[in-house]
Amino acid sequence: MELTGLNFIGNEFSAEGNEIFNGVNPTTGQNLPTDFHEATSNEINKAISKAEQAFSVYSKKSGKEKALFLETIAEEILALDDDLIERCREETALPKTRLTGERGRTVNQLKLFADLLREGSWVEARIETAIPDRQPLPKPDIRSMYKALGPVGIFGASNFPLAFSVAGGDTASALAAGCTVIFKAHPAHPGTCELVASAIIIAVQKTNMPDGTFSMVHGRSTEVGMTIVKHPLIKAIGFTGSFKGGKAIYDAAVKRHEPIPVYAEMGRTNPVFILPDALRERKEEIAKGLASSVTLGVGQFCTNPGLVFFEESEDAKKFQQTAIENFVNVNAGTMLTSGIQNAYQNGIENIRNQQGIKLLAEGKTTGAVGEGIAYMFQTNVGIFLINEQLEKEIFGPSTLTVKANNKTDLLKAAQKLHGHLTITLHATEEDLKNYEDLISILERKAGRLIINGFPTGVEVCHSMIHGGPFPATTDNRTTSVGTLAINRFVRPVSYQNFPDNLLPDELKNNNTLGIWRLVNGERKR
Ligand code: NAP
Repeated sequence: MELTGLNFIGNEFSAEGNEIFNGVNPTTGQNLPTDFHEATSNEINKAISKAEQAFSVYSKKSGKEKALFLETIAEEILALDDDLIERCREETALPKTRLTGERGRTVNQLKLFADLLREGSWVEARIETAIPDRQPLPKPDIRSMYKALGPVGIFGASNFPLAFSVAGGDTASALAAGCTVIFKAHPAHPGTCELVASAIIIAVQKTNMPDGTFSMVHGRSTEVGMTIVKHPLIKAIGFTGSFKGGKAIYDAAVKRHEPIPVYAEMGRTNPVFILPDALRERKEEIAKGLASSVTLGVGQFCTNPGLVFFEESEDAKKFQQTAIENFVNVNAGTMLTSGIQNAYQNGIENIRNQQGIKLLAEGKTTGAVGEGIAYMFQTNVGIFLINEQLEKEIFGPSTLTVKANNKTDLLKAAQKLHGHLTITLHATEEDLKNYEDLISILERKAGRLIINGFPTGVEVCHSMIHGGPFPATTDNRTTSVGTLAINRFVRPVSYQNFPDNLLPDELKNNNTLGIWRLVNGERKR
C-alpha cells in the first residue's frame, strides 16, 4: 500500500506546511521512503473544529452503532495484512511475531469495547423517581448516566506502535465513550500511524460516522502536540509515553483557561520484592525469570522490572549469582529509536556514576547500530533511601537490585517508594503470612500488585488496572488498559424532571436497551 505522508483532517488528506520528516529504520539508521508533513496550526485547528461538529452527531450514536464502528476498524486493520506488519517492523525493529501478536491485541481490544457497548450497562444509569407528596418537600425525578466529554486529544508511545498508538486502548476507549478523537501520530512510526489511520477513516465512512469523528496529525516538534492540548475545544487528553512528555502536557493542560483532565500513563520502575522463603525455595527460577522479564523486547516495556528488593542471606547470594549468569548471556537487541538508545546509554552512565552503585552484570554487545545492552546493578537500602534518582525509569534492559539487612529495612524501602504501575511479590504462603504489613504498604503504591509472576505482559480485560499513583500516571483513579478505561472520557450528567421522550434511551422509563440500572436504589434490568 502506497503511503502519502499526509495528515488526516477528518476524512480529508492535507499537507499545508513545509516541515517534512521521515520514518527511520532503527537497524540501519537510514531514512525510510515517504516524506511526512508536519501539521500546521491551521490544520490542527481545522481537525478540532471538525471534531467538535462531529461530536454532536457521533456522541448520540447508539451503543450498537459505535460497536459496529469499532469492529469495522478492527476488520480494516486486519485487512492491511502484511503491509502493516512490514512497515511497522521497518520503523521499529520489533520482530514480526511480536507485531502480529500486538496487532491481535489491538483488534481484540476494539472488539472488547464493542462488546461493552452492545451490553450497554457501562453508562451506570441511575433512576430516582419522583415522590411529589414527600414531606416537608417533594422529591423530584432525577436520573443520571455517563456522557461523553467532547473532542479529545490522544498521544501514543513508540514502544507499542499498534496497541498504544493510533487505534490503541486510548483511542478505542475514547471512541467507545462517544468522544471524537484527534490523534497525534508518533514520529517514530509515522507510516504505521498512517496505515492504521486509513483503516479508521474507512471504518468511519463504511459505518456512516460523521466526518471529523477521527483525525490524525503528524509532528516531530512538541508544538503539534501542545497545540492540541491548549485548544479550547479539547476536553481531555489521553497520553502514553515518557514522564517528561506526560508531565509537560499535564502542566500545560492545568494552565489552560479551562483546565482539562490529562490521563498520562508514564514510565516507572515496577519494583519486585523477593521474600525470604520464596528465595529459599525458588531462587534459580526467579533469577532466570527476572533476567528474561528485564530484557524482553530489549527492556522497552513500561512494566519492565527495574528495581528488585530482597533481604541479605546465603539464598540471596545464590539468587544474585544465577541472575548474573543469565544477564551476561543476553545479546543486545536493537532499540526503537536513536533517541531512546541515547537516553538509555545516558541513564546507564548516570547510574554507574552514582555513589554506592555496583555493576554486577553486563550483557553481550553485538556492535549493531542502535543496540541496547543488558545491565544489572546492585545497591543497598541505605543508599536507596537517600538517592531519589534510583527510583526513576531507565527505559531499556536494565535493573537495580537492592539488598536489605532485614525486614525492617525492607519495609523502610517500601515506605519510601513513590507510585508505580506494578509491584511484584515473590512469596510463599509462609512469606505472605509474615509480610502482611509489607502488602499493606505496597497496596498504596501501585495500580497492579502481582504475586509470583513478572509484570511484563498486561492482560486486556474488564478487571485490568494499568495505572497507578503519581508519577506512574497523572491520575490514579483509572486505567489505560481494559474496559474501565472508558470512564476517563465521560462525565456523569443528571436529568431532573425531564419528560420521558427527552431522556436518553438509557434513562427512559421503558428499559428497551435491557441494561442494568439502579432504580430507586435497586439494581435491575
Ligand atoms: P515520548 O517521547 O514521551 O512520546 C510520546 C508522544 O508524546 C509522542 O507523540 C511525542 O511526540 C509526544 N511528546 C513527548 N513530549 C512532549 C511534549 N513535551 N509536548 C508535546 N508532545 C510531547 O514517549 P516514547 O519514547 O514514545 O515512549 C516510551 C515511554 O513510554 C517510556 O517511558 C515507557 O515506559 C512509556 N510507556 C508507558 C506506558 C504506560 O502505559 N504507562 C506504555 C508504554 C510506554 P514527539 O516525539 O514529537 O515529541
